[in-house]
Amino acid sequence: MNFETNDEHRMIRKMVRDFAEKEIAPLAEEIDASDQFPHGLMRRLGELGILGMPFPEAYGGSDGDYFGLVIALEEVARVSGSLALILDAHTSLCCEPIYHFGTEAQRQKFLIPLARGEKVGAFGLTEPQAGSDAGATLTRAVRDDDAWVINGQKVFTTNGSAADVFVITAKTDPDKGTRGISSFIIEKGTPGLRLGREEKKMGLNGTGTCALFFENCRIPAENLLGAENEGFKQFMITLDAGRIAIAAMALGLAQGAFERAVAYAKERVQFGRPIAQFQAIQWMVADMATDIESARLMLNKVAWMKEQGLRYTKEAAMLKLLATEVSERVCYKAVQILGGYGYIRDYAVERMYRDQRLCAIGEGTNEIQRLVIARQVLEL
Ligand SMILES: Cc1cc2nc3c(=O)[nH]c(=O)nc-3n(C[C@H](O)[C@H](O)[C@H](O)COP(=O)(O)OP(=O)(O)OC[C@H]3O[C@@H](n4cnc5c(N)ncnc54)[C@H](O)[C@@H]3O)c2cc1C
Repeated sequence: MNFETNDEHRMIRKMVRDFAEKEIAPLAEEIDASDQFPHGLMRRLGELGILGMPFPEAYGGSDGDYFGLVIALEEVARVSGSLALILDAHTSLCCEPIYHFGTEAQRQKFLIPLARGEKVGAFGLTEPQAGSDAGATLTRAVRDDDAWVINGQKVFTTNGSAADVFVITAKTDPDKGTRGISSFIIEKGTPGLRLGREEKKMGLNGTGTCALFFENCRIPAENLLGAENEGFKQFMITLDAGRIAIAAMALGLAQGAFERAVAYAKERVQFGRPIAQFQAIQWMVADMATDIESARLMLNKVAWMKEQGLRYTKEAAMLKLLATEVSERVCYKAVQILGGYGYIRDYAVERMYRDQRLCAIGEGTNEIQRLVIARQVLEL
């Protein structure tokens, strides 16, 4: 079976790579050091049609597909993990559910400006007591005439401090467990929505991670996203696709670190010759190249399965597990090949090593991926 990308996908890769090298790479270090959300680059991603990649033109998109988004994520992550995570949270976690489960009016009002980059989107699922156990959500939404009144808290919301539009989950029928959760769209500035302070993180700086507090936050009844009590099902579907996206981000970071390590190995001279001539370095490079190749093959396969409309829950979990562990190994070796310089902030591999660490945690930890895979294999 051939999982090679088509001509359009090759064009997308070239376009995003050119943009990433010219406009993102020069700012990547500054985004990391300043921890400031890159609003300007976000607008550029919108202008170039990258934020709206998988959506029809009628909704502000560029008529591409999810495979195209995956390619874009990989290319952006190759130079900046932070911008890749911002793109992932905006398009894959916020826009996608609005497109798939939203009404025509919701798509018109929210998706169009999000896809064009005029607004920033975020996705709030995790709560202090509901991380891996996302069904343990305590945030509550109660219907009151023509409104929903929301009380509760979300944590670790990527893009949170910069977002205009939030897709969040809340309990609408507390007696029904995971069948009593619904999704809602909330706009910035709604009375009763308060943002927490931005988290200081190991990496992926500039992604505006913060908590969201809802205190009698009253939103219009029409901001219910999809059917009432279907929220758990919706975010399981959203996270299946999200696992492809985060795998693409992990792979892009691995690719970026790999290229830097190879270039360095050819230039760095010790004991009178380039370190690339030492077998120890060659073996690391060989393992890195093999790891990256296997993760990319699996990424293409799972993105292809999604495009074919096949079930891919198990494969997405396998992909996320594989690609994020590959990224960890590759970035570790990249730092090792650069020696002391690999540990210094001036060299991008240090940032990439920190950035990739989140990929094994966010959108379902790797332990949860193993659980998903084992359940499917063992038919539990
Ligand atoms: C930088 C960053 C950005 C994020 N962005 C978002 C976002 O935009 N939106 C959002 O909703 N969330 C976001 N998250 C939250 C993220 O998805 C959660 O942190 C993650 O799902 C894990 O939840 P937790 O942190 O509560 O860990 P816990 O669930 O408490 O897990 C702690 C440890 O226990 C393990 N564990 C838990 N349950 C099991 C089990 N059943 N079997 C085996 N091991 C288990 C875990 O694997 C982990 O090792 C973000 C987090 C970070 C750090």
